[in-house]
Amino acid sequence: MHRRTTATIDLGAIRDNFALADNAAPTSNTMAVIKANAYGHGMLEVAAALDSCAAALAVAALNQEVGLRAAGVDKDILVLEGVNSADGYREAEADGLTLAVNSREQVELALGSGTPTWIKVDTGMHRLGIQPGELGDTLARLRKASVKAEVVCTHLACADDLENAGTRQQLETFQSCTDACGLPRSIANSAGILGWPDSHAEWNRPGIMLYGASPFLSNVAAAADLRPAMTFETEVIALREIPSGDSVGYGGRWVARRPSRIATLAAGYADGYPRHAPDGTPTFVNGQVAPVAGTVSMDMITIDVTDNPGVAVGDLVELWGRNIPVAEVAARAGTISYELLTGVSSRVPRRHTSSGSVS
Ligand SMILES: *Cc1c(COP(=O)(O)O)cnc(C)c1O
Repeated sequence: MHRRTTATIDLGAIRDNFALADNAAPTSNTMAVIKANAYGHGMLEVAAALDSCAAALAVAALNQEVGLRAAGVDKDILVLEGVNSADGYREAEADGLTLAVNSREQVELALGSGTPTWIKVDTGMHRLGIQPGELGDTLARLRKASVKAEVVCTHLACADDLENAGTRQQLETFQSCTDACGLPRSIANSAGILGWPDSHAEWNRPGIMLYGASPFLSNVAAAADLRPAMTFETEVIALREIPSGDSVGYGGRWVARRPSRIATLAAGYADGYPRHAPDGTPTFVNGQVAPVAGTVSMDMITIDVTDNPGVAVGDLVELWGRNIPVAEVAARAGTISYELLTGVSSRVPRRHTSSGSVS
């Protein structure tokens, strides 16, 4: 392989992070959210790695689970967005999937099907879910039609911010509308698991924390033990010395304030590195941080290695991973780790390892 831009995925780290989520809520069942190709980490590999520990799996939409059954995964797979057609219901039933029911329209479709369901209540995020006041009637209708409602669930809008009072409000709304329903409940995403113990219920649904990224907007100690699963790496393909006052890259954004050494890297925004990364965004080369210097190009990034002696063509550079938290690159670029992890493009080969061995 000529181009050494790779995403190395440590499945051992994902298993450790799963155990952390599971142990944080000892009385809850923990499902693994593997939507968006397991947040860019490879859905089939992640599902296999978690086969012995995850109580169930969740994807966003029908057909995202394709390949899991063929790979021998026989545990429950929840489709978080549910489906909006009778055909979709038939497909889900044939594949033994569980469907979230998120709207009155989906309730009508569920009534005519044998697919097990999770009933979602909109407690304030206003994205998906039936209204809290509709829950009792909905459950009665489903029961009458012998449709299995397994769990009542909701989703938190602001759990990533521990100061935000909206979460407390959502928990109260959910508590009061589900109090009498007698069904298992599910509320917590990663931020709920690590930051809101009151959101722990019979089922928890961690996503981002499994991949080793903090779900929180600011530093929270509970997230400190997560192990980054992805190392996004590239190599130095060119080096040059430039005089003080010269600029680097498109638009001449970065200007040398001293005689400088610039390394050009074999990755760019077409690989999923954010084009919005400003000058100063850290990378890691030869055991030291080196800052982005100049606008990120489609296929290349330029970094300032003036203070990194010994950098040579062919050296590996970590863009994010163990040394550079993806959340830091995301914050610099004005986004969140979720977007960067899911945005690593398909041309970047994923290599899966576990405890140091390449598979
Ligand atoms: C994506 C998602 C999750 C997982 O959220 P994280 O913040 O990644 O832990 C849980 N529940 C629902 C409904 C989701 O869409």
